[in-house]
Amino acid sequence: MTGETTTATQRWQLSDREHYLHPFTDHHELAGKGARIITRAEGVYIWDSLGHRILDGMAGLWCVELGYGRQELIDAACEQLRELPYYNSFFQCAHPPAIQLAELLGSISPAPFEHTFFTGSGSEANDTVIKLVRRYWDLAGHPQRKYFISRKNAYHGSTVAAGTLGGMQPMHEQTGGMVNFIEHIEQPYHFGLGGELDEETFGLQQARLLEEKIEALGPDHVAAFIGEPVQGAGGVVIPPPGYWAEIQRICRKYDILLVADEVITGFGRLGEWFGSVRLGIEPDLMPFAKGVTSGYLPLGGVLVGERVGAVVTREGGEFAHGYTYSGHPAACAVALANIRILRDEGIVERVREDIEPYFSARWASLGEHPLIGEARSIGLMGALEIVRDKGSRERFAKDLHAGTRCRDRCIETGLVMRAVGDSMIVAPPLVITREQIDELVEKAWQALDLTAESLAAG
Ligand SMILES: *Cc1c(COP(=O)(O)O)cnc(C)c1O
Repeated sequence: MTGETTTATQRWQLSDREHYLHPFTDHHELAGKGARIITRAEGVYIWDSLGHRILDGMAGLWCVELGYGRQELIDAACEQLRELPYYNSFFQCAHPPAIQLAELLGSISPAPFEHTFFTGSGSEANDTVIKLVRRYWDLAGHPQRKYFISRKNAYHGSTVAAGTLGGMQPMHEQTGGMVNFIEHIEQPYHFGLGGELDEETFGLQQARLLEEKIEALGPDHVAAFIGEPVQGAGGVVIPPPGYWAEIQRICRKYDILLVADEVITGFGRLGEWFGSVRLGIEPDLMPFAKGVTSGYLPLGGVLVGERVGAVVTREGGEFAHGYTYSGHPAACAVALANIRILRDEGIVERVREDIEPYFSARWASLGEHPLIGEARSIGLMGALEIVRDKGSRERFAKDLHAGTRCRDRCIETGLVMRAVGDSMIVAPPLVITREQIDELVEKAWQALDLTAESLAAG
C-alpha cells in the first residue's frame, strides 16, 4: 500500500463520514473507524482502496450470482440505455425488455406462474405482495381476510410495510405499530430453539404454530402466510425436513395464500431456479429481486401464480399500485442476459450437481473447529454457529461480540463473511470454483483461529 492510496482512502473516509448516511449502520461507531472503501471487483473478488483483495463470500448482498465483471451484462445495459433508456408501463404502455422478461420468468418458474409485476427492489416486491393479496381477497369476496402471518427473525425488506412483515425486532422497534395487520410466529431454528428435540419433531412443532395463530386470529380473517424458503438475513436458518409440507398443509386447510419470498433463494442459489422447487413448496406468489440481475442493476418483482393471477387479470377495476421504475428497461435487459447465461451455461445444474456437494462437504469440515457448534449449509448458503461450549451450545457473553470479531478477522484474512449475532454466514457467487471454495474455507478456519485467540484474551 502506497502513501498515495492511504491519503486517497483517508479523503474518502472523511467525506463519507461528513456526508453519507449508510443503510443498517451505527454511524457513531463507523465515524471512529472509517468505512472500508471498495473500489473494484472481478469474478468472486473485490478490492478495497488500499489494494487488498478480498474473496466475496456474500456475493455482494446475496445477489452477484454470476460474479463481477460479466461483459454480457454490461453490454446488455449499455445497448438498452442507447435504444430506450427509460419508459414506463403505466397508462397502457409497455416495452420489449419488460415483456420479454415477464415471458422468460414464466418459462423458468414452476407451473402455474405466468404473470410478473415488476418493482425496483425486494422490499417493494413485498409491499406489492401485501397489496396484491388484499386485492385478491377483495375481488374474491372475502374483504375481511386481512391478516398476514410471518415469522420472527424473517427478513422481507426495509420499507415500513416490508420491514413489519419481516420479523427483525430492532427494525420493529423503530417503526413500532405503523402497520397493524401482521402477526409473527416463532421460526424453525433448530440449533437455537430446538433444545433436545430431534430436527423433524421440532420442525413439525414450529409449523403447527401457524395453525394455532390462524385459530387465534379467526380463520376467516387470515389472508396469507409468508416465509423465505430458507431464512437468509436471519442467519441461514434451514427448515427441518417436513416443516414446509406441514406449513403448506395448514395453508390449504384454511384456504390461505402461501407466499414464498424468493429474493435470496431464487435464480439458482439452492440448485433450482427457485428455492420453492427444492423444498417442495407450491406457493401462490413469489417475490424476487437480488439474483435476477446478479445485482448489476436494481430490479425486483412478484411472480403471480394462477390463483391470484386469474382473479386480478379477469376482474375489472384498476390495481392502484406501481412504481416509476416498475420494469425499468435497462434493468430488465440485464435480467434477460443474466437469466440466459444462468440457463445456457447450465449454472443452476452446476450448483446442484457439482458445486453444492463440494461446498457442503468442505463447509461441514469447519464444524470441527473448537469454536463451532454447528456448520450447516444448503445450496450455496452456509452458516457457522460460534459457541463457547460445543456440547451445551453455550454462547459467548454478548458484550464479547464474538460474531463481529470474527467478521473483522475474516476481512483481515481476505474474506467477506457476514455476522448475524454469533452466527457467521456465507452465500458466495454461484460461479465460485472448487479452488475458490478451498480458499474460502481455509480463510474461514484461519479467521476462526484468530477469533478464538482474541476471545481468549477477553
Ligand atoms: C434482501 C431481501 C429483501 C429485500 O430486498 P431489497 O432489494 O433490499 O429491498 C426481501 N426479502 C428477502 C428474503 C431478502 O433477502
